[in-house]
Amino acid sequence: MIAEIIAVGSEMLTPFRQDTNSLYLTAALNDLGVQVAYKTIVGDSLAHLTSAAAIAISRADIVIFSGGLGPTEDDLTREAAAAAIGVELHPDNGILAALYKRFAARQMVMPPNNAKQADVLDGALALDNKNGSAPGQYLDTVVDGHRKIVILLPGPPNELKPLFDEQVRPRLAASLPIRHLAKRMLRMALIPESHVDARTAPIYKQYPDVETTILAHSGEIQLHFLCAKPTLSEAQARVDELTGKIEAEMEDAIFSSHGESLEEVVLLHLGMRHLTLATAESCTGGLLAQRLTAIPGSSRYFLGGAVVYSDALKTAFADVPAELISTHGPVSPEVAHSLAEGIRARTGASLGVSITGIAGPTPGSPGPDANKPIGLVYIGLADGHETQVKEFRLPGDRDRIRLWASQQALELVRR
Ligand code: ATP
Ligand code: MG
Repeated sequence: MIAEIIAVGSEMLTPFRQDTNSLYLTAALNDLGVQVAYKTIVGDSLAHLTSAAAIAISRADIVIFSGGLGPTEDDLTREAAAAAIGVELHPDNGILAALYKRFAARQMVMPPNNAKQADVLDGALALDNKNGSAPGQYLDTVVDGHRKIVILLPGPPNELKPLFDEQVRPRLAASLPIRHLAKRMLRMALIPESHVDARTAPIYKQYPDVETTILAHSGEIQLHFLCAKPTLSEAQARVDELTGKIEAEMEDAIFSSHGESLEEVVLLHLGMRHLTLATAESCTGGLLAQRLTAIPGSSRYFLGGAVVYSDALKTAFADVPAELISTHGPVSPEVAHSLAEGIRARTGASLGVSITGIAGPTPGSPGPDANKPIGLVYIGLADGHETQVKEFRLPGDRDRIRLWASQQALELVRR
């Protein structure tokens, strides 16, 4: 069973509006074990819409239209779907009566155009729309000898979502072969997507019944696995077998195998070892502290930190000797080292982490840092026994360098 979603509306063919309904519908269909094979966006033209509808009906088993069910001239989904399937539209008296009532309740006379919202595809079931005037439609039919389910839904997301959840989902679930879906996600940080693919593809290619997707996203790589089987235990077993092999291959690079974020994993790691953490951040300006404090319950392990952007504050808040900064520059392994130890000592935390670097777009400040490259970042970690400092050359713009620096700092603590 494959599905196609057709998002109807000329506004989504401009740079100003995005089709988000299809994301919602895709997730909902996936949950039912249905793969979305095509998504189409069409403007409000009867010719274009009819041609898109005909193509969709010829190649997909389930076709869902979003939008174009309003009362105006440019709301043409009903007409296009009818033409593409080869059925007529007929007015549904129940809907018509409800429309008249809706207007009467607001002491208005219904404009004649609105009556077309009561037009239903022959054989279709009208779906009551509690949040708007356009009803949805559900047609389970046979076209050219093939079973086709055609669904029309209103465009406004606050109408489409409840209509789908309350009236379409149960009907689809009842009429499709029962499939249970197992999902899993493995997350890795700071490793190029191409490396992950080169090492994992030989493994996941042996599991054609598990859909594997690699996504690179904000300094991390996610591997998504999806498997549909007649029983959940069968689906789960396949996914677990595959992820087990990938975990063995990627080992330590995987920070999370059940969806947790990197900051959550770091906090769990601190909790398990009864450790506390404090931060001294220069180029990330508190981003690391922000990410950690975004996790509820982080106060047990994260004591706090200082944003030590200027040289003077590095000295005042983390006891970095002024001579050290003037000799080596604020972006140096020496300063990262001293900052990590300084913040640890000042706060009484078991671990002190420091970040200092050049995020750009302007180069380092005059003095020893003047000729250091943009993207140069030092991260220090002090635990009271030893203090390690790592040097990074991070590519990209200011936002990316700052995000990756915080990512590297979290990875350093996790490992
Ligand atoms: P209406 O009776 O409101 O006209 P309709 O079914 O005709 O309902 P559209 O006119 O196509 O729906 O869309 C109405 C509004 O719904 C759009 O202006 C837009 O804000 C939102 N919308 C439509 N389609 C989508 C979509 N695919 N994703 C997100 N929002 C959408
Ligand atoms: Mg409309």
